[in-house]
Amino acid sequence: MTQLAQLYESKNLGELMLKLSSEDVCRSYMEEMRWGNNPVCPHCGAPNPYRLRDGKKFRCKSKTCKRNFTVTVGTVFENSKIELRIWIAAGYLLSAHKKGISSHQLSRDLGITQKSAWFVLQRLRLIMGEPNPEPLQNVVEIDETYIGGRLANMNRKKRKAIVDAGTDNKIPVMGLVQRDGKARLTVIGKNSFKDVVRLNVDKSATIATDSHLSYQGLDQEFAAHGTVNHTINEFRNGIFYTNSVEGFFSLFKRTIFGTYHQISPKHLHRACPIFS
Ligand SMILES: [Zn+2]
Repeated sequence: MTQLAQLYESKNLGELMLKLSSEDVCRSYMEEMRWGNNPVCPHCGAPNPYRLRDGKKFRCKSKTCKRNFTVTVGTVFENSKIELRIWIAAGYLLSAHKKGISSHQLSRDLGITQKSAWFVLQRLRLIMGEPNPEPLQNVVEIDETYIGGRLANMNRKKRKAIVDAGTDNKIPVMGLVQRDGKARLTVIGKNSFKDVVRLNVDKSATIATDSHLSYQGLDQEFAAHGTVNHTINEFRNGIFYTNSVEGFFSLFKRTIFGTYHQISPKHLHRACPIFS
C-alpha cells in the first residue's frame, strides 16, 4: 500500500494527525498526491527534476527552464502561510462532514483563525466540490468550457488510442457564478445545457449567458435571461455579462492543472460536483 493510501485509510482525525507528524511527512504526501512517483516541473512540464539538498525544493532539468520549485508551486496551497498538515486535516474534515462544515467550526477544530479557516475552505471547496449545494440565486452568470488532458502529457499508447478514436479528450463543463461570489462547476455529461441550469439555479434568479442556442427559452422559466454575443464582440449588455464566470474558469483551470498537473476525464468528476 502506498503511504498516501495509508493516509486515506485513517479512521478518524486523531489517527490522521498522528500520521501527519511533521511538515516533511506532509510534504511527501503532497508530492505523492500531485505527481505519484514522477515529479514534473510546474513551470514547463519537464519530467525528472533534481531534488535539492534541503529535501523540499526541486530544480528543473530542462536547459531552457532550470527553475526551482516545491510541491505547492502553482497550486491552491502556494503562498499561504498555512501549514500543510492543516490543509490535509481540513480536507479530511470537509470530506468527512457530508453536510459541509462552517469556517467557525473548522477554526475551532484545527485551532486556526476563522479567517484562515475561511480561506482554506474556499480553496478546498474549489477542488473537492460541495455536497448538495443550494440553488444559486439573484444574478447568475453561466458559461461553458472544455477541460481535458493535454495530449502532449500522455504516454504514447494513450495518445494513440485517443487520436484513433477521433475524440479530442475534452469534456464540456458548465460554470455557474452567483454574483455575490458563490460559484459552481459541473460536468455537463448527457444533460442538456438547460437541464444543468434547472438543477443548479433557483427559478427566481436572473440569468446571464452567451448567445449559445442551447440556452434559448430560459426566459420562460426564470425571472429573466439576457445574453451577450461574443462572436460580434459584445461583452456587456446592461447587467448581462459573463466576466465573473470566465474569471472563475481560469482560476479553476489553474487549480486543476496546478494541483493534478493533468486530470483525466475519468477523474474530472472528483474535481467538479456532478448533478446527473
Ligand atoms: Zn521547468
